Amino acid sequence: MQILDGKIVSQAVKHELKEKTRRLIEQNKKVPHLAAVLVGNDGASETYVASKIKNCEEIGFKSSFYRFDAATDEATVINKIQELNNDKAVDGILVQLPLPKHISEEKIINIINPAKDVDGFHPVSVGKMVQGLPGFVSATPYGIMLMLEHYKIDTAGKHAVVIGRSNIVGRPISVLLSQNTNPGNCTVTLCHSRTQNLKEICLQADIIVAALGKVAFLTADMVKENAIVIDVGITRVADTTKKSGFAIKGDVDFENVAPKCSYITPVPGGVGLMTIAALLKNTYTACVSP
Ligand code: NAD
Repeated sequence: MQILDGKIVSQAVKHELKEKTRRLIEQNKKVPHLAAVLVGNDGASETYVASKIKNCEEIGFKSSFYRFDAATDEATVINKIQELNNDKAVDGILVQLPLPKHISEEKIINIINPAKDVDGFHPVSVGKMVQGLPGFVSATPYGIMLMLEHYKIDTAGKHAVVIGRSNIVGRPISVLLSQNTNPGNCTVTLCHSRTQNLKEICLQADIIVAALGKVAFLTADMVKENAIVIDVGITRVADTTKKSGFAIKGDVDFENVAPKCSYITPVPGGVGLMTIAALLKNTYTACVSP
């Protein structure tokens, strides 16, 4: 069993981006600039945004952070995004989800200039991804693909089972794994809350991507020998032994599943770190694209 180490792969991605950014500075060219928008004070969202900004700083990107309280109206957030759309200094716009209920996520995503859509949620980005055209692929599925690529995992002809069909993880990773690319070229089964015989389907899988948000949902009896398991889940569970008061848990019963796997991602230290690396890669691309 080999761990697919998000720390190692994300460091490699960030090292490359740092070097490229250094070269941009040497050539007096523009440095990538990510603008992050956060509405409300959800603890997990605050942690994610802070980490994204810290990572920008580490590799020499510029960043700016716009923070609104939970009661801010939709028009104010839309105005800020339009301002960022028109700001030539800004290359990438990130609106941290979820948004408070009174603000339409669909409206907000649709208003982002597709050329600055580094989260890859805009319908233009999604359409390009589905057609296999160059464009921004949303960070978590992109990060998973970068990880498979780094470890040179042969995915062609493999049966991949994806659990979860959200627009940000399950659906896009199912598309990417099915594309005629490397990694890709899998036969993909997309499962969700209404799927019947999930255990039997998982037992046929060479690759399982668990992205449903239920702690330790994927158990050893659902996984065949030598399967590759990618755990996307991030759930905060109360833990008094931690300084923060919580521990991060994945969707996979790691302890019992890992011994059966050829490769497996840990949580934390797996896909989460790759998500940030992929976002930074998209921001660099946005900056250097004509
Ligand atoms: P979501 O709630 O939008 O979607 C969950 C999906 O799981 C749904 O499609 C649902 O049909 C499916 N599902 C629920 N119960 C099921 C069951 N019993 N059997 C089969 N399918 C079931 O979630 P999401 O936004 O896709 O996130 C999923 C998990 O991934 C969460 O834990 C989230 O925190 C995490 N996440 C992690 C990253 C990262 O960077 N690692 C990024 C995004 C999301």
